[in-house]
Amino acid sequence: MNYDIIIIGAGPGGIFTAYELTQKNKNFKIAVFETGGALSERHCPIDGKKIKSCVGCRSCAIMNGFGGAGAFSDGKYNITTEFGGTLHEHIGKEQSLELMQYVDKINLEHGGEGTRLYTTGNSKIKTLCLQNGLHLLDASVRHLGTDINYIVLENIYNELKETVDFHFHAPVSTVEKIDGGYRVTVENGSSAGEYTAEYCVISAGRSGSKWMEKVCADLNIPTCSNRVDIGVRVELPYEVFAPLTDELYESKIVYRTEKFQDLVRTFCMNPRGAVVNENTNGIVTVNGHSYEDPARRTDNTNFALLVAKHFSEPFRDSNGYGESIARLSNMLGGGVMVQRFGDLIRGQRSNSRRIEESFVIPTLSATPGDLSLVIPKRILDGIIEMIYALDKIAPGTANDDTLLYGVEVKFYNMEVETDENLETMHRGLFVIGDCGGTTHSLSQASASGVYVARYINRNRAEE
Ligand SMILES: Cc1cc2nc3c(=O)[nH]c(=O)nc-3n(C[C@H](O)[C@H](O)[C@H](O)COP(=O)(O)OP(=O)(O)OC[C@H]3O[C@@H](n4cnc5c(N)ncnc54)[C@H](O)[C@@H]3O)c2cc1C
Repeated sequence: MNYDIIIIGAGPGGIFTAYELTQKNKNFKIAVFETGGALSERHCPIDGKKIKSCVGCRSCAIMNGFGGAGAFSDGKYNITTEFGGTLHEHIGKEQSLELMQYVDKINLEHGGEGTRLYTTGNSKIKTLCLQNGLHLLDASVRHLGTDINYIVLENIYNELKETVDFHFHAPVSTVEKIDGGYRVTVENGSSAGEYTAEYCVISAGRSGSKWMEKVCADLNIPTCSNRVDIGVRVELPYEVFAPLTDELYESKIVYRTEKFQDLVRTFCMNPRGAVVNENTNGIVTVNGHSYEDPARRTDNTNFALLVAKHFSEPFRDSNGYGESIARLSNMLGGGVMVQRFGDLIRGQRSNSRRIEESFVIPTLSATPGDLSLVIPKRILDGIIEMIYALDKIAPGTANDDTLLYGVEVKFYNMEVETDENLETMHRGLFVIGDCGGTTHSLSQASASGVYVARYINRNRAEE
């Protein structure tokens, strides 16, 4: 075997697998294969001036490379089992929380010290939400911010590269089971070739979901896929949400709509942040960032409002459904579309003049349009209901000038069948992080990596 352990993907799941393995045994021979580049190479060509929209790079600098999808994220580490994945269903609540706290400690030791930890415990906002039909989920949130998150990743990489072989621009095309382990093949780039190892940990994230489907089909690993979240990103003056964000930073609030009894939730809140484009497999959707550095803060707060859609048999392509809606917005808007809430309610499209006259200045250059031509009625009705509900706890949310960007889609990876150790039916082959459908957050993806690393170390010691 070339290696003891091969890790596919250098996102939080892969990074923390490698980190914990090196902590447990300095002699492990570990390789990480990553489609994208090293952290320092990751630059999206969209500058908002010369290049305004996605040019379809071979690997997306935002989603691929060391740090994974989370590298330029807001770096919000939610220490909770209430959202962000179902890791606890595999390894138990207590252990999940312990591992998330451990990840937090490592982040603090690598440049995150001094960042704030917010908590919803005993918050008056919880009561206010309940009084208005809204439910605030419990969590502690470490907010690193995009800039500190980058520093933490840089420090961890500098430490890891001493003992771990990183193969960048090395997308793994196949994973095969061989005698005593696994063989992975990289077809392109300077690392092209075949590599073998006793253990293989796949942490290919959301961007690797299509590839993951193929791997599961090749190895007969059972999967299922039935969920997608669709919605908009809301942008409003910082002051409107300040009572919530000053105390909690990120509040995950859930609302059940009266009309359809659907669940709508807030997601990824960015006080004084900026709305950004996100590219998933060539489809441009919307997301948000915020910064610790005061110089980079804006006058606005943004967050997503998402409606969860669960499908039942015979329909199996929930992500395809989400993609079609995102494609429709790309077709009409050439990318992300923006509409004032007041225009949406009056049944009129937003145009450049109405956006320019708005008191809320958009932080993303998006095409003014009509979201009701894109988002299915049931979902849009749910979002509108929730905006009015939020207006009761944060007056001003339902103002005419509140901006809605569409569409925001949260694709869920199909669920890959793994046991309580995140091990597939093939011994020694693990599927962790977002690509197995078990997690959808930085904390839980990282924790799943630590968990599997410890498990492999124990297994190795017993052999
Ligand atoms: C813009 C943005 C903001 C976010 N903000 C937050 C936040 O604030 N808090 C939070 O909790 N979560 C956030 N998330 C989600 C979070 O980033 C993910 O949940 C997390 O990164 C998942 O980690 P992962 O290791 O499972 O996968 P990823 O981070 O997606 O990493 C997977 C890696 O595998 C690589 N890969 C894929 N296929 C292959 C292959 N065949 N061969 C080799 N390499 C491959 C990819 O290039 C990628 O680098 C955000 C996501 C985005 C996109």
